[in-house]
Amino acid sequence: MISAIEMSRLMLYKIAWLKDQNRTAFLETSIFKLYVSENYIKTCRDAMQIFGAYGYTQEYEIERELRDALACSIYSGTNEMQKNTIYRMTTAGVGL
Ligand SMILES: Cc1cc2nc3c(=O)[nH]c(=O)nc-3n(C[C@H](O)[C@H](O)[C@H](O)COP(=O)(O)OP(=O)(O)OC[C@H]3O[C@@H](n4cnc5c(N)ncnc54)[C@H](O)[C@@H]3O)c2cc1C
Repeated sequence: MISAIEMSRLMLYKIAWLKDQNRTAFLETSIFKLYVSENYIKTCRDAMQIFGAYGYTQEYEIERELRDALACSIYSGTNEMQKNTIYRMTTAGVGL
């Protein structure tokens, strides 16, 4: 969990730095969105596993967090669309 959070933070700082330099960050933001949403889901699933049946109940908010995490892979460009963008940009030799 902590490694995914730290990696996400580093990616976010890189994107902020690129924007601060007036540079584009299309590839980086697609990688970031994909990475964060996948790890958001994974982290919620891990949390649910840690809490066992309690994590599944509505009392502990983890099930709500997992539903929000799943939505994150859909809105603001689905994960499949992020993968398409990453594929297109890397094969075109753009970014990174
Ligand atoms: C919680 C939530 C909040 C939202 N908030 C907003 C908002 O504020 N403003 C707004 O405008 N919209 C919002 N949306 C809508 C969201 O942007 C769309 O649901 C999203 O773009 C996917 O479109 P769709 O639902 O029509 O799925 P579709 O486009 O029908 O896609 C269905 C599935 O097919 C996949 N797919 C589609 N095309 C391809 C392709 N070419 N290659 C590979 N896979 C493909 C998709 O990745 C997806 O898994 C929100 C959605 C949710 C769940």
